[in-house]
Amino acid sequence: MKVLVAAPLHEKAIEVLKNAGFEVLYEEYPDEERLVQLVGDVEAIIVRSKPKVTRKVIEAAPKLRVIARAGVGLDNIDLEAAKERGIKVVNSPGASSRSVAELAIALTFNVARKIAFADRKMREGTWAKKQAMGIELEGKTMGVIGFGRIGYEVAKIAHALGMNILLYDPYPNDERAKEVGGRFVDLETLLRESDVVTLHVPLVDATYHLINEERLRLMKPTAILINAARGAVVDTDALVKALKEGWIAGAGLDVFEEEPLPADHPLTRLDNVVLTPHIGASTVEAQMRAGVQVAEQVVEILKG
Ligand code: NAD
Repeated sequence: MKVLVAAPLHEKAIEVLKNAGFEVLYEEYPDEERLVQLVGDVEAIIVRSKPKVTRKVIEAAPKLRVIARAGVGLDNIDLEAAKERGIKVVNSPGASSRSVAELAIALTFNVARKIAFADRKMREGTWAKKQAMGIELEGKTMGVIGFGRIGYEVAKIAHALGMNILLYDPYPNDERAKEVGGRFVDLETLLRESDVVTLHVPLVDATYHLINEERLRLMKPTAILINAARGAVVDTDALVKALKEGWIAGAGLDVFEEEPLPADHPLTRLDNVVLTPHIGASTVEAQMRAGVQVAEQVVEILKG
């Protein structure tokens, strides 16, 4: 049986496939035309957020039984076309939860202690000791919006740091909340009372621009906003205004409404914001877990 790995995959995942006796064909991010040539006799395709597995690709693969996405989002796969053919689509939710959570906490510390700002100044030759006055996290309140896999990990770490935990989620999990010393409140209360507000909701109609001008104005002027969910959960124009006019103190952002963020975007001009290029899941551990999880599912489906 032949498996096409069409995106970089951790070597442990390749090992899982080979140990199961599969022939592994590897080509990094082939375009649609090339994919059509490659899939003629494969029974599984493994991708990441790229390449696109289109209807045309699926139609060119008569033996295809499973499409695996090492990671979460399935928007590069034509799910309808796969369903019509009875092709299974699998992914690895949860493989990167801890990594995204650690990045959210790293961004929080970075903004709270003005680390990126101080580093920039030092490289310019300025010893910005006075301008880099920060705050401690212990004893402060962390407001977690979206208490799912990642939100839970963030709350766990924040709890261990001695922070108070407020939670907002339409589907409250009271047992998990208890574990992290958290309390469910309504969104308005969370925004008014938190020193750090961190977003861990999926991007759906109900969360598009969830954090808008009105809600930013509810936050404390000393508060920090962290977004490692999806860019469009925050109204970026309103956030720029909030950061410029001091409705909030700072922000740490890993995701943007437009990615890559244009180099001349107003956010890049602000000292009270820390920016990272969507690296939440970019750790050795998360990539290994994602790869192995999907490889194991492919083996199970093809051999089962
Ligand atoms: P999850 O499904 O485990 O948790 C999401 C939680 O949000 C659920 O508990 C759900 O009930 C809650 N929710 C849904 N609608 C809500 C609303 N309107 N208000 C408040 N809460 C709401 O998902 P997850 O694995 O924790 O991922 C969360 C987010 O992180 C997703 O947007 C995902 O795309 C993003 N993510 C980012 C990166 C990155 O690299 N930065 C990596 C992986 C995932």
